[in-house]
Amino acid sequence: MGGLFLGEASAFRVVIDAGHGGHDSGAQSGPVLEKHLALDVSRRLARYLNRRGIKTTLTRGSNFVSLGGRVATANRYSDAVFVSIHFNSASNRGATGIETFYYTPQSELLAHLVQANMIHKTRRVNRGVKHRGFKVIRSTRVPSILVEGGFLSNTRECKRCVDKVHRQKLAEAIGHGIVRFRKVR
Ligand SMILES: [Zn+2]
Repeated sequence: MGGLFLGEASAFRVVIDAGHGGHDSGAQSGPVLEKHLALDVSRRLARYLNRRGIKTTLTRGSNFVSLGGRVATANRYSDAVFVSIHFNSASNRGATGIETFYYTPQSELLAHLVQANMIHKTRRVNRGVKHRGFKVIRSTRVPSILVEGGFLSNTRECKRCVDKVHRQKLAEAIGHGIVRFRKVR
């Protein structure tokens, strides 16, 4: 906060929300923590967008931020999209694949574009686009999605998520989906 130039708050921006953080590790598989993978993809996504002249804000660094704090960051901007990045876990260790959640009608197209790009780029199992009222995508005023980039509870998929090549593909696919959304909405 502070030091904003006049008008900057109205320029298009992508608010990138790395899930969990700090004391909240999220999903865990041995030494692999969701919070670390989510922050890494978030930073890769920011680099991808910044190189294309698109401004970004990360809701957290390595610290923990409350869900309300994440929403408040998104709601500082009028022309923005919000993307929350997570990795999945299930008691069924066979579960694999990538899925994207949205809540508001204005977010549905964004969810479909990002999901389609992730599947195209990573060739992983397509679990589809789902309507779900997670707080961070329900309480934000701008188009908002939550991405689950793979199951850490599945041994093979966890290995893939630990590979930075996969995380870079995910980040680029999310970024490409956002760029497409901005053009066609
Ligand atoms: Zn999560």
